[in-house]
Amino acid sequence: MILKGVFVGIFMAAAMTSAFAPQKALIMPRTTDSYFEGTVPTSLHMVTGTTKNTKNTSTYPTQRGSEVDPRKIVAGGTGKDNLIAIRLKHILFASEELANQSLSSLRSAQMNFDELAMQISNCAETREEGGEIGWVNMKQDNQHLDLILPETARSEVLATSIKPGDIVLTSSERGYHLVQITDVMVDVRKMSYVKTRKSYQEGQEETETQLKGILGGALAASEQEGVDFKVDLTYKVETMGCQMNIADSERMEGQLQSLGLRPYDDETDKAKGKKPDMVVLNTCSIRDHAEQKVYSYIGPYAKRKREGEDVTIIVAGCVAQQEGAALLRRAPEVDLVMGPQFANRLGDLLEDVANGNQVVATEASHIMEDSTKPRRQSTVAAWVNVIYGCNERCTYCIVPTTRGVEQSRPVESIVQEVTELVAQGYKEVTLLGQNIDAYGRDMIPKRKFSDLLRTVGSIPGLKRLRFVTSHPRYMSMGVVDAVAETPTACLNFHIPPQSGSNEILEAMGRGHTRERFLQIVDRIRQKIPDAAITADMIVGFPGETEEQFQDTLKLMEEVKFDSVNTAAYSPRPNTPAAEWENQVPDEVKQDRLQRINRLNLLHAAERRARMMGREVEVLIEERNVKVPTQVMGRTTHGYIVYCDGDIDELRGKLANVKIDVCQTYYLAGTMTEVI
Ligand code: SAM
Ligand code: SF4
Repeated sequence: MILKGVFVGIFMAAAMTSAFAPQKALIMPRTTDSYFEGTVPTSLHMVTGTTKNTKNTSTYPTQRGSEVDPRKIVAGGTGKDNLIAIRLKHILFASEELANQSLSSLRSAQMNFDELAMQISNCAETREEGGEIGWVNMKQDNQHLDLILPETARSEVLATSIKPGDIVLTSSERGYHLVQITDVMVDVRKMSYVKTRKSYQEGQEETETQLKGILGGALAASEQEGVDFKVDLTYKVETMGCQMNIADSERMEGQLQSLGLRPYDDETDKAKGKKPDMVVLNTCSIRDHAEQKVYSYIGPYAKRKREGEDVTIIVAGCVAQQEGAALLRRAPEVDLVMGPQFANRLGDLLEDVANGNQVVATEASHIMEDSTKPRRQSTVAAWVNVIYGCNERCTYCIVPTTRGVEQSRPVESIVQEVTELVAQGYKEVTLLGQNIDAYGRDMIPKRKFSDLLRTVGSIPGLKRLRFVTSHPRYMSMGVVDAVAETPTACLNFHIPPQSGSNEILEAMGRGHTRERFLQIVDRIRQKIPDAAITADMIVGFPGETEEQFQDTLKLMEEVKFDSVNTAAYSPRPNTPAAEWENQVPDEVKQDRLQRINRLNLLHAAERRARMMGREVEVLIEERNVKVPTQVMGRTTHGYIVYCDGDIDELRGKLANVKIDVCQTYYLAGTMTEVI
């Protein structure tokens, strides 16, 4: 097949030769030795659920609190059948004691692996490159690496771990090696289901798709003489849902562009009568009938396909993961169904699609680092994933089944990504994780989010660091301290309690009480009085009584959140709460939603009112779309601020603004100084 291996080739080559950029040493004090510095109050275990009919009849793969080891359930499990290659770095020591000492400074992020390798590794071959060994091919003997990391040591590493971020201590005739697994390449062809389209069965001619033309490039064109491949292929990405999906879409777009496609321009392309050649629908299934939205969105594209047009239809994200091959049955025009864990492998998955097949990629997978550059929406503020997936089991939530188990990215990869962003001119970074305090608990050795926060926060040139989401069960007081002590860390905590009623929290399986939540709020207010606290709340959870709903309103009164994302409970497939009989009627949910929203608006206005007359530092991001002579930026709290100014001069600058208008969801004022 013409294209066989082209994409794996493209990405292997890019990934394997990607410039190695060692980072500066980042020496940070540690706060405490324990991993979860926050204590969960014992009262948690004394809460007795009064919610009726809350039996868990659903079949989650794991329950919260049970051991979830990504090494055992992804990338073909222990069999490692799906692995193509594993990327390694090492530091060579003369003594085991020194190796162990270094391991403990790496664990606390006091030292960066690359920098440590450059400073103290005894391996002359790799020292200059921060210990980089490169890719170890799982299907070959890799003898060429024997002089660096002898075979016995390599085997020991592979027997211990294949998970990016892990550091393994091993020995050989050369001495003691600290070996870090920095990336893993899985064979997406083995991990995806490829369905031959009817028009492309044995004996019939291969389908000549435009995609094949552009992706095969010169090779395909030369072998298919007379075939006029269109090279100006456009794509359109539609993103639904949370920041995770936005970040995934940015990475998928980066891959499409590196393959030669360009974004469809709604104005100019449309004016020329051109339609998008590819559509990527990145879906969200957190609420509502998400699947229905997918079918109605892809409807026009499917029609074009049925009429014989060469258009590629991709459904990505959580609905894709949830529905899998069922999507192909209901929408046979779809070419690729891919779960969130494959966002970095879109280019590879397109190989089979380019040959006219349908592909479903939803197996649990290690998440490979992306070797292409994301196409980010903003030039000022960027999203950076630090931990994928979620090991929690909130009884209403579909995320653990759609995004899989927790997989933390190596500190060094995160630091490298942020350093590159700063070099490109980005001023603000938001670290992303469903339960960000879980960062590093899946790693060997374990890491702490507070250490990561300090390390990333001290990257030279970075002006602002944000992070979402903090789970009240795991939110550590060490993180509050880290924010207080890291000048770049923004004064904004997003900590969703979801409900103010202990009975409902118990039924939700949140693992925290309202008392624990208030304890965190107290700590923040004591340590950082000006910090903004934002949240998510669900109303109308099964069995929620008026009194329990009132508890939520009371919690809001006590805390006075800067803003709350509110939602009426929506039953999701394969979640326990969806099967309970005590569902709250829709009209009650809607009534509660309106009442909570009214209170939310009052508090949002009250919180912003305290800014009147203050001079605040604002990072200018964009033009005010409603008043083009004004710019829009944000304070450290995350409040939107408008003021007069020229966006072309001010984008990405920090400015002081004297506030003279305080509205519910924005502030306005006069710029006094550009910093
Ligand atoms: N990991 C975050 C946490 O624990 O708070 C939340 C992530 S979830 C993608 C975002 C929000 O969606 C949740 O905080 C919750 O308020 C809301 N949500 C999730 N499942 C829901 C459901 N079944 N019905 C209504 N809202 C839901
Ligand atoms: Fe995980 Fe958040 Fe969903 Fe709970 S609400 S299961 S913590 S993603």
